[in-house]
Amino acid sequence: MAWGGGWGGHAGGASTMFGNSQVAGLPFGGIPSELMDEATKLLATEPQRERSRITFTQRPPARARQRLTLPRLIGAYPRWVVAGSTYVIAISLLMQAGPLLTGYAINHGMVRGHHSLTVVGACALAYLLIAVASALLQRAQVGVTGTLASRVMHDLRIRVFTHLQRLSLDFFTEEKAGVLMSRMTSDIENLQQLIQDGISQFAMQGLTMIVIIVVLFAMNVTLATWTVLLVVPLLFAFSIWFHLASERGYLLSRDRIANVLADLSESLYGTRVVTANNRQRRNIANHRHVVGAYRDANLYTGRVNAIYGPVTITIGILAQGLLLGIGGDLVLHHRLSFGALITFFLYLNRFFGPIQLLVQQYNALQQGRSSITRLRELLETAPSVEELEGAPDLATIEGRITFENVSFGYDPDHLILRDVNLEIAPGESVAFVGPTGAGKSTMAKLANRFYDPTSGRILLDGVDIKTVTLRSLRSQLGVVPQEAFLFAGSIRTNLSFGASDVTNEQIEEAIDVVGLRELVDRLPQGIGTAVHERGQTLSAGERQLLALARAFLARPRVLILDEATSSLDLQSETVIEHALDRLLEGRTAILIAHRLTTAQRADRIVVIDHGGIVEVGSPGELLAAGGSYTAMFDAWLASGGRDSTRRAV
Ligand code: ADP
Repeated sequence: MAWGGGWGGHAGGASTMFGNSQVAGLPFGGIPSELMDEATKLLATEPQRERSRITFTQRPPARARQRLTLPRLIGAYPRWVVAGSTYVIAISLLMQAGPLLTGYAINHGMVRGHHSLTVVGACALAYLLIAVASALLQRAQVGVTGTLASRVMHDLRIRVFTHLQRLSLDFFTEEKAGVLMSRMTSDIENLQQLIQDGISQFAMQGLTMIVIIVVLFAMNVTLATWTVLLVVPLLFAFSIWFHLASERGYLLSRDRIANVLADLSESLYGTRVVTANNRQRRNIANHRHVVGAYRDANLYTGRVNAIYGPVTITIGILAQGLLLGIGGDLVLHHRLSFGALITFFLYLNRFFGPIQLLVQQYNALQQGRSSITRLRELLETAPSVEELEGAPDLATIEGRITFENVSFGYDPDHLILRDVNLEIAPGESVAFVGPTGAGKSTMAKLANRFYDPTSGRILLDGVDIKTVTLRSLRSQLGVVPQEAFLFAGSIRTNLSFGASDVTNEQIEEAIDVVGLRELVDRLPQGIGTAVHERGQTLSAGERQLLALARAFLARPRVLILDEATSSLDLQSETVIEHALDRLLEGRTAILIAHRLTTAQRADRIVVIDHGGIVEVGSPGELLAAGGSYTAMFDAWLASGGRDSTRRAV
């Protein structure tokens, strides 16, 4: 346990796994043989699929730049659209045959003087056949629209995700993850619902109303006029009120659930900070607030719904009374057949369903439409860092970095860096030091083209980095961020992240180089061992070493390293320093140094403060000059700087 003491229990908090037992706390201790046998059997019956070939270009192809609209979305599958529409029309017509058949059976088979069992029997049989036929058609229609919806949504999900991969860093810092998640989940699901049910229902109910109105007028103009003129405007007016009110409720609850999700994800990801700062009570209070607002929005929608149902029922009953009075009078004066009156009644009832459903579907239609608008906005957000049309690849570089009159502000009106000039020679390692918030990380982000300078240029081997493809640029720049992000998967997949074609031998070599050998040997499946989501089972130091190994495998010409600020114990620091020495061999490096130990080992130190470079020179030169670096260094020594460095100076 050479590392046991050094790597156990430091500030990170999640590092006890190697302290007590070698396997305790690991994701799993191997696959049981019976499970493995089952898995092998399953694999034997799995069909071999080709690996999907994916092309990703930073500039979206013309097809992906088209404006997102519903017709375009479903228009990609014309055959399915035609089939679905045909079914919808056929069903709407067939469904309305029932009342007509009933009226016919009464007039020609049941009323005095027209008794005929044959007519009644034939009508009943026809009724039955039509019911069966329309059920079969409905089944087919649901199948068709379901398939159409699934395909369209699959395309859309991939399109949105691909777009997210293109967007620049600034988008993800401004936009909350919860909001993005809701675009990807509920907005897309809304659309799926709309295509699956909404549009076909809307068309079917609309057609049904038209068919009924035509039939009613054909039978008796007076009665049809009364029914249509009184009932339809009243129902529609009321339904429009309902629609406006419920849309308001819908928008409210939509915004508020987004807040709930955002609050939830923030609390979940920040559990450690929450616990450490005793923020649980405050968090609960805050969550109560956002959840309460969401409940209020739902209550409002509930109240609106509670008014709508009973009022429409009342309108229906009143209409039936009216029909009975006027229609009965017409029958008594022999101006309407008895069968026709019954047909009217049956149709009247069928009138209400479609109007209510139309309004409901109208809501779904609106929801779908606003989802489309939101997704369209997302898809139309251009990445702030864009590749020039037809930009060439950056040729293999030696590694000279030049900052030429660079000014930059996240908000262009508020510059963080002003007119910065710096030249870093190939193979040179340069440490950026300075107070927090001075702009050290910003300089590094500019070099990697996460952002573009507000003015000035950044050159790599004399080539403006704006003029080359992002892919070729980033493949030659290695970035080791402060917080190494580990993805769910094995150590192997995590290490080969930046270079997918590396061999196991190369991975093992990288493990040796960064000094992770002991850790890996102790793990049950070596480099095949799974790490937990975000690497929470590893200590901060181990995560950092893995990030260094990842950069080592990608073999970039230039390395940008944002040193982790979390304090490490002496032994871990030594291991990391060794790893760094190996990693920096022959490479140009920008080190954002939070520890002066690291700065002292660099070829040159650049002190950044007040929006620019205040001092540049080798560690020895700067200490001799007695400027701001010397002041920083003295303060650091006074607060107990590392012994080894003190000796070195
Ligand atoms: P350092 O690395 O020297 O600690 P940074 O380069 O991270 O400093 O930050 C410089 C300044 O820019 C700080 O004032 C910081 O608040 C601000 N800043 C950093 N990132 C962003 C961002 N994504 N959006 C807006 N302001 C930012």
